[in-house]
Amino acid sequence: MTKSFGYAAPEKGGTLGPFSFERREVGEKDILIDVQFCGVCHSDIHQVNDDWGGAIYPMVPGHEIVGRVERVGSGVTKFKEGELAGVGCMVDSCRTCVNCKAGVEQFCEIHTALTYNGTEMDETTPTFGGYSTNIVVDESFALKISPDQNLASVAPLLCAGITTYSPLRRFGVKEGSKVGIVGLGGLGHMGVKLAVSMGADVTVFSTSPNKEEDARNLGAHHFVVTRDPAALEPLASQFDFILDTVSAPHDLNTYLELLKYDGALVLVGIPGEPAAVSAPLLVMKQRNLTGSAIGGIPETQEMLDYCAANNIVSDIELIPIDDIAQAYERTVRGDVRYRFVIDIASLKNKGAS
Ligand code: NAP
Ligand code: ZN
Ligand code: ZN
Repeated sequence: MTKSFGYAAPEKGGTLGPFSFERREVGEKDILIDVQFCGVCHSDIHQVNDDWGGAIYPMVPGHEIVGRVERVGSGVTKFKEGELAGVGCMVDSCRTCVNCKAGVEQFCEIHTALTYNGTEMDETTPTFGGYSTNIVVDESFALKISPDQNLASVAPLLCAGITTYSPLRRFGVKEGSKVGIVGLGGLGHMGVKLAVSMGADVTVFSTSPNKEEDARNLGAHHFVVTRDPAALEPLASQFDFILDTVSAPHDLNTYLELLKYDGALVLVGIPGEPAAVSAPLLVMKQRNLTGSAIGGIPETQEMLDYCAANNIVSDIELIPIDDIAQAYERTVRGDVRYRFVIDIASLKNKGAS
């Protein structure tokens, strides 16, 4: 077995603390990654709090993982020792069903092994995430990382990056598209950067007036404070595509109304409660309401390569593991600029002491 040390939530809503555990031996197709940085996604907080039900404890969160390959199995061809590697939200899937074959392993018909708060393909062995010193993963579910970018700032691409890139591509956002991004947090700020890089005219919808300058620095063309309903009225039927990244319950009809004929509102935020939708708003302009979940492995690699070619990374606050509780609290308050990333060196120091 491979010894690992991480931070885990002991129970629902529990404070994260030190946790020693073991990962599997490095198998023929596995790589062992020495984790260097791990992003803090709002999904980590939802899952620690069991907002979506069915959580497994102790839980080591973290699915925005980057590090260096420490060991490779005898059959590994994609990575060499010493190279950079990343792991996102999945560590395995059946690989044979129609969705896996189409490269959308997140929608595997049999079982998607989530990086944490999930189980391996035996559907029994719990998985542990990236708030930890190392991870063992099949090479097929590890991503190649460019050595030319700041590694800590690349980590959030593994979830926030792909979750925003995938729907922007699916809906063909391009030069001149009118795009709205709702919520300027981890996902939202990546959505802005990516949509701007694709040539879109980007509007940020935010509850935080003090984020306007940041939004403009990220490349957004317009900024609307949603606490003032009058500010939204002139924007009715203006948008081709709106990406909703909000983590808490809120009114979707506000944004449906802003879509043009056949425009799309795509939910990526996952509040724990259902939302009411106005049928006339959907029917009268044939508007589309849909969701999107991360992205498959091929598209995740495409996104990483795109970000490397276009010099796109996340804006981060690097924190030691000791600050994790405060980072959660600030994220819940919407006070995140714009992704917390854990420096795993701070964890390794603890593990050694
Ligand atoms: P985050 O950094 O906390 O950002 C969420 C933003 O939403 C906040 O910064 C805030 O922006 C806005 N917001 C928060 N509470 C709000 C409220 N009550 N009303 C209106 N706006 C509010 O979170 P994140 O990491 O980007 O994740 C966002 C959501 O996406 C979470 O639910 C997460 O679980 C989900 N997620 C989904 C996927 C997927 O595959 N679909 C992947 C990753 C994460 P302003 O201050 O600008 O208003
Ligand atoms: Zn995430
Ligand atoms: Zn499958």
